[in-house]
Amino acid sequence: MYRDLVLNVALLVALSATYNLLDRLRFPQDWVKRVLGGLLFGFVTVVGMQLPFRYGPGLIFDGRSIILSLAGLFGGPVTGAVAAAMAAAYRFHLGGVGAWTGIGVIATSALAGILWHRRMKGRPEEVGAGSLFFLGLAVHVFMLLWMLTLPWPVGLGVLKRIAFPVLLIYPPATVLLGQLLAMEARRRRSEEDLRRNMEMLQKTQSIARIGSWEYDVESRRLTWSPEVSRLFGVDPDTPPSYELFLQCVHPDDRGRVDRAYSESVRQGRDGYEMEHRIVRPNDGRIRTVLEKCEHIRGADRRIVRSVGFVQDITERVETEAEVREIQETFQTFMDFLPAAVFMKDSRSRCTYVNRYMKEVFGAEDWVGQTPHEHLPREVADKMVADDREVLSEGVVETEEAVPGKDGTRRLFRTVKFRMDRPGKEPLIGGIAWDVTVQRAAEQALRESEEKFAKAFRSAPLLMSITRLEDALVLDVNDTYCEVTGYGREEMIGRTTLEIGLWRDPTDRRRLLKQLRTRGRVTNLDLDLRMKNGEIRHMLFSCEPVVLQGTQCLISVGMDITERVRADQALKELAAELELRVAQRTAQLTEANKELEAFIFSVSHDLRAPLRAISGFAEIIARRHREALNEEGRRYFDHILEASERMGSLISDLLNYSRLGRKAVTPEVIELEPFVEEVLRPYEETLRSGETELVLDLEVSSLWADRALLRQIVSNLVDNALKYRREDVEHRVRIACRTEGSEAVLTVSDNGIGIDPNHHERIFNIFQRLHPRTAYPGTGIGLALVKKAVSLLGGTIRLASEPEKGTEFEIRWPAQAKENRE
Ligand code: ADP
Repeated sequence: MYRDLVLNVALLVALSATYNLLDRLRFPQDWVKRVLGGLLFGFVTVVGMQLPFRYGPGLIFDGRSIILSLAGLFGGPVTGAVAAAMAAAYRFHLGGVGAWTGIGVIATSALAGILWHRRMKGRPEEVGAGSLFFLGLAVHVFMLLWMLTLPWPVGLGVLKRIAFPVLLIYPPATVLLGQLLAMEARRRRSEEDLRRNMEMLQKTQSIARIGSWEYDVESRRLTWSPEVSRLFGVDPDTPPSYELFLQCVHPDDRGRVDRAYSESVRQGRDGYEMEHRIVRPNDGRIRTVLEKCEHIRGADRRIVRSVGFVQDITERVETEAEVREIQETFQTFMDFLPAAVFMKDSRSRCTYVNRYMKEVFGAEDWVGQTPHEHLPREVADKMVADDREVLSEGVVETEEAVPGKDGTRRLFRTVKFRMDRPGKEPLIGGIAWDVTVQRAAEQALRESEEKFAKAFRSAPLLMSITRLEDALVLDVNDTYCEVTGYGREEMIGRTTLEIGLWRDPTDRRRLLKQLRTRGRVTNLDLDLRMKNGEIRHMLFSCEPVVLQGTQCLISVGMDITERVRADQALKELAAELELRVAQRTAQLTEANKELEAFIFSVSHDLRAPLRAISGFAEIIARRHREALNEEGRRYFDHILEASERMGSLISDLLNYSRLGRKAVTPEVIELEPFVEEVLRPYEETLRSGETELVLDLEVSSLWADRALLRQIVSNLVDNALKYRREDVEHRVRIACRTEGSEAVLTVSDNGIGIDPNHHERIFNIFQRLHPRTAYPGTGIGLALVKKAVSLLGGTIRLASEPEKGTEFEIRWPAQAKENRE
């Protein structure tokens, strides 16, 4: 009897071992495993049904109810169903009266297990002994109830007989077998958990790029996680060693790293942390890692082990370097930015200011301070009010006058904006740039534009602005409209050619040509056609100018029509006048010629009767003078004197009229003999010593008509000697020199001089200033000199003052030779 019991137990243990083995195997689909599990349970149930346990005569039990309920509990619905089906099929095959009861027991047992599986929410290994006991109890209560389905009263008899032993043995047996299966399942589960945790750890290490290591001080054994091999770029199969680790460390860092471990051990520290570089042997790349080590001490406080992790922080280090670089670049930009950049917190306290701000406003310690600490109250009040607005509106643009550190007020254009920060108070950012000069320039520009606009509008000249390429009128001033007769709106937007302003359209080409060659046009004569068709003359000046990117021409024109007409009239008048003068001159020359001819013929004709008078008068004087009484002699002397005077008058007149008749024939005249010859008639006077004669001849010869020059010199010398003053020593000077191509001859004396009132008229014929009794003369001499000078092509000039003396200067074009070489 006990052999069967042992066999049953052995069978169940074998089931538990086989089921665990099955559970360890991996299947692509879960249901395969479940079905196989079901087959296993089913198979064991069938085998178990062949080894019934005989409790007493006629009382045979087998473990089917236990096995099938546990199949449902541990394997779930599929396993339970498959096992139950197998058992049911076998029971059906056995047949007999209890067949259906047996199948019912099989079904309820598997079902109860499946329900318990549900209750355990898929974690049957967690099932406790109590729970198993209840399962066993429930399954076997149902089993006993199934006994009632046996033919009456057999069922009741069986029930009565087996109820107690079944309820006594089967639930504990369920607990035992269930615990066996659950224990195994739990072990498997924790193994699985461990494996999963390890996997997760490795995954985590690989994601975080963190490797861990452990060093046993006593055995000097180093172990590390696979991630360390990956980080260091070494073959994962190479066993870890401290030497291998040191090989991977960058040569420059090797000494430092080596010292770090040994020193921390020597100094008895709890651990250390350091950054160093490695050179990965597999790809030669340099990486930066963070090492952190902690020492673990034994019972005697001695360090027995060290654990640590190594993390690849290359990206972080590079990012930090990049951030540093960006920060430095930002700083450099900010330092050189010619504008104030600042950041403030919501209470207007600066959190950042750039160099410009410090320099312009002087203070260094802006950070942490409000504008009130550095700027006048009203300016700071306005700034703070703006800050409030920035916080509510987001952006504010202002222009504010702020005093710089040198006290001058500067105009700043400021843009402030709210800088929102997640989870923090917003900041206020701002940029302010100095627009003082720009605004002043704009103001100046506005004023200058206004001035130009006013000048343009009201100038009394025609002013226009046209597009250079096609002469499209962009603007014209009032005068332009007044003069041409066109309205502004009639001209603006049309070209001057379309308007028909050009009398001759080729004039525009002329204008453009001048513009090209000289860069501007000045005083160009143009004829423009007015609206009423009238042509008017204009004088135009143009300058090219770029207006809003377009090449334009500013033109200023003057209406010179009236002037041109006046000029024309003047020219006509002058021509007419010239004609008249020429006519008059011709008439005058004719009259002069006639007069001279008359004088000549008269004086010539007078000479014969005069010669007769003076001839006969001399005969009377010589032969019959005694016959005349006193009175007759006196009258006769008058006749002699008058005829003598008339003779000299006639010869002077003849000289005068002859002067123009002879052709002028210039020649080289040797001066000294010439002067000597001219002075010969005055030899006696000069020799008497009454007059001092000074000759100042700078040239030895002159180019002139000899007869004319003789007339000039002898007449001037004659006068100089004649008009002397009795009270002073008389002096006469004859000088001759050349100036350039001119000969200059002067005859001067210190005689009675001439009143300036008479300087003009003494050159006229018969003009005398003295009665004949005082100074004899005919009044023709200077007229003769003047005529001779003009025949020489020269000029005469007189300088004289009464009681001081007189100087005549004659200049004529002549070649002269240098005297006294
Ligand atoms: P006249 O025969 O009277 O000298 P001129 O024609 O030679 O006639 O001179 C005109 C006048 O000019 C003279 O009457 C004299 O009053 C004045 N005159 C000319 N030469 C001199 C001189 N050297 N000094 C002063 N008066 C002079």
